[in-house]
Amino acid sequence: MKKRVKFLVCNHCNIDCNFCHREYQEPGGKTGKFKKRYISDVLTKYPSSDELIVKISGGEPLLYFDQVVKLIKMVKSLRNNCKFILLSNITLLAQRKLDILKEIGISEIRATMPSLDMGEYCRVTNALPKLFTKAISNSRMIRESGLNLRYNAVLQKCEDVEDYIKSYVAKVTKTSLANKVFFVNELKTSDQIFKKAKNTLEHLNGKEMKMYRGGRVFKTNYNSIEVGIGRCINWNDNDPAREFADDYIIPPGVPIPKYNT
Ligand code: SF4
Repeated sequence: MKKRVKFLVCNHCNIDCNFCHREYQEPGGKTGKFKKRYISDVLTKYPSSDELIVKISGGEPLLYFDQVVKLIKMVKSLRNNCKFILLSNITLLAQRKLDILKEIGISEIRATMPSLDMGEYCRVTNALPKLFTKAISNSRMIRESGLNLRYNAVLQKCEDVEDYIKSYVAKVTKTSLANKVFFVNELKTSDQIFKKAKNTLEHLNGKEMKMYRGGRVFKTNYNSIEVGIGRCINWNDNDPAREFADDYIIPPGVPIPKYNT
């Protein structure tokens, strides 16, 4: 029985990453609202004795901040033991919003951060430099608040994997901008990159990485940060690891994404 559920509150975003698959919704497609009855029906699928990991995602969920707050409150009113995680590019975050998110129970934020170099970040995300600056200052704000901050980075080119991982991890370790880093391989032909990434991290760390979720995701502790790597498992309907993927929940009335389970 799965214990992870991901609510997709919208499919719009304020930036335009070149690797974005908008969680299988067509960009520019219809966006709807979650209603309590609908969420209640969704939650009955998950035994209340188990902790449920509830991820809030999009598109960029902070474009619909009020809906995010409403959604979390609705879930909380329907069941107790949930861990709430927000997936966001964090460029739209502000202190007041962060305080509210913390107060209503978000314990971790996972930020899209494909590069810690401003030029490269802007190239990959098609964002203006001021948004990179904002993401960095908001990272500090999140860390100061005591919430976990995981940077989600993207492995895109096989030949760069080793250098990319090494310099990224070194920067995060030095700056303490995040306390977790996760490298995900978004390419359809992922085996080679995945193996190279695992090899790089094992050499960096000097020890075997802990494996979980069907052997497709690995993680380790390096200095003070947790580092993980994973394959994008949603491209292949027959991949047995898909059993470990989140359940995707979209608002009623929105066309069902191809890979929704
Ligand atoms: S921040 Fe996320 S939703 Fe927005 S464009 Fe990038 S990958 Fe897509």
